[in-house]
Amino acid sequence: MTTEPLLEGRELLQLYAARTGPTQALRGVDVTVSSGRISAITGPSGSGKSTLLAVLALRERPAGGELRHGGRLVSTLSRRELRTLRRREIGWVSQRPAHSLFPQLDARAQIAQMASLRGVRVDVDAALAEVELTSRANARPAILSGGEQQRLAVAAAAVGAPALLIADEPTAELDDDSATLVLRLLRARATEGSAVVLATHDARAIDTADTVLRLRHGVLSGSGQDRTASLDGLGRLQLPVEALPLFPDGRVVVTIVDGHVELHPPA
Ligand code: ADP
Repeated sequence: MTTEPLLEGRELLQLYAARTGPTQALRGVDVTVSSGRISAITGPSGSGKSTLLAVLALRERPAGGELRHGGRLVSTLSRRELRTLRRREIGWVSQRPAHSLFPQLDARAQIAQMASLRGVRVDVDAALAEVELTSRANARPAILSGGEQQRLAVAAAAVGAPALLIADEPTAELDDDSATLVLRLLRARATEGSAVVLATHDARAIDTADTVLRLRHGVLSGSGQDRTASLDGLGRLQLPVEALPLFPDGRVVVTIVDGHVELHPPA
């Protein structure tokens, strides 16, 4: 089993336009994702989990920072190279599993199609059996239950143990039996060498992970970069959440001294 770093992100930033001005969905994230491991990204809703997954899956270009995939600087890759990398080496399961499936294909064809796109040979029956969908082999996504769609989307994304397998909340809607199947499959691919990355709130998935990364307001906590703060054009400073307990009444004394600024709670 390999545990090489597959992805290395440094100071990743992502911005979105919002009515109230730009939202910083990622505010300087340093992250390393290794092959052969399951990394879980947790954090409250709106903390940037889906954004980080989209950047790591090369579906969105970050507004700032540097991302390496297999040692290659992603910003130097052409559109064509990115497309090939996504198709061949990156499995993606959307938060809405139906979005990761081909609506016109039955379960068997979903697996076969993914294998063909990736250029790998796969035992389709075994892939369906692994997520207990043998009896649904001829069903299209529209007639599958939510849990069946989720299992199929994960099985299809995992075909051929891609270098990177990314799933957004893959167990959120699943009962314990289905969640166990999905987590077992993700573990099996990690053992075969995939780097598996999940965004999740689910304790069952967090317990399975080898690494747990916590996001809050677009910053990864507990990774030594908690002091990243952003300043807007009007001079408003957004402190890292870890600093907030120092200022329980929301008042800050600002002192400018010799080229730097000190912030203290009022005496
Ligand atoms: P999570 O997955 O943790 O719920 P997201 O990554 O979806 O968080 O969102 C992080 C922040 O970025 C939120 O404030 C969200 O409103 C904003 N955001 C995410 N995607 C977009 C988008 N496409 N356009 C505008 N704002 C977005």
